[in-house]
Amino acid sequence: MLQSEGEDLKNLFMHSASVREEYCGNKVYLRGLIELSNICVKNCLYCGIRRDNKKVARYDLSDQEVLQAAQFTLESNYGSVVIQSGELQSNENTRRIEQLVREIIQLSEGKLGITLSCGEQTEDVYKRWFQAGAHRYLLRIEASNRALYQKLHPNDDLHSFEKRLECLALLRKTGYQLGTGVMIGLPFQTTEHLADDLLFMHKQDIDMCGMGPYIEHNDTPLFEFRKTLMPLNERFRLTLKMIAILRIMMKDINIAATTALQAIDSIGREKAIRIGANILMPNVTPGKHRDNYKLYENKPCTDESAEDCAGCIEGRIKLTGAEIGYNEWGDSKRFLNRKK
Ligand code: SAM
Ligand code: SF4
Repeated sequence: MLQSEGEDLKNLFMHSASVREEYCGNKVYLRGLIELSNICVKNCLYCGIRRDNKKVARYDLSDQEVLQAAQFTLESNYGSVVIQSGELQSNENTRRIEQLVREIIQLSEGKLGITLSCGEQTEDVYKRWFQAGAHRYLLRIEASNRALYQKLHPNDDLHSFEKRLECLALLRKTGYQLGTGVMIGLPFQTTEHLADDLLFMHKQDIDMCGMGPYIEHNDTPLFEFRKTLMPLNERFRLTLKMIAILRIMMKDINIAATTALQAIDSIGREKAIRIGANILMPNVTPGKHRDNYKLYENKPCTDESAEDCAGCIEGRIKLTGAEIGYNEWGDSKRFLNRKK
């Protein structure tokens, strides 16, 4: 199916759209995305904010900025926030995120759902954040094939494939709704790898998925392989196919229409929603910092403030024929069904 074209592809997309409608309904749920900090201890070879990229101006939002962004999310009736960040493993960072989670719950009187995406941590840290009130966690496997994973990361203890698997297991054990995902169109990646990625997500019985096209960044080691990559529009189409197939394989999970899709096609996220995605993460990071959270080239909306984006969300979703689940958490139905 990853190689479907023409009529077959049309049928695939029609089927995945109808599965979403039947199992998840017609609503798209919103998560205000707060890019907490671009400071990272890791050196993933694909990522623009990796530790060794000295060209990036590093920032760390103040607690007040984070809470303002959460307040904006609440007032925009988005229903949930995602706190995403470069990876930091320190007591101070643990305490800080724990406190921010508590304060967001307090300011929203428990109305905002909270997803975290702050990388690999210990079981104790995951527990503390969960007990503070975060209830979903996104940690992409990036590439489920060990050999490919190792080509995308430095070969050291900080970037171990086993550790990543262990963290996914810990997150599940702690009680989070578990999200993972991969990048699509990576150097050295084959169609077989992608098919295995889908099987990996199925086997892990994930609750949520965020996957998007790989987009090369000038100041990263993987940039030297740019000539081996398929064109951006093909990476885009392949991502839509991955979303559609995953929707059919895992009918009741949440699937995000990721920002990287929009970097390639200005209505890329809307196209993903049409064929099976049901989560959108509008960026609510204060505009002045967005330019410095560049994971890849052409990242959209880096020059806008959150308010500019809020205006266009409604119209964009209407275009897809879906409606917005305002003020709803929009939890993963698979997670809720498993609990029953
Ligand atoms: N540091 C945390 C982590 O790695 O899980 C969260 C932030 S990290 C920037 C979020 C995601 O960005 C990663 O999981 C990765 O898939 C994606 N990403 C990084 N560089 C990218 C690139 N060049 N193209 C597309 N996605 C990229
Ligand atoms: Fe850091 Fe995440 Fe980027 Fe890796 S992908 S360098 S952990 S921000």
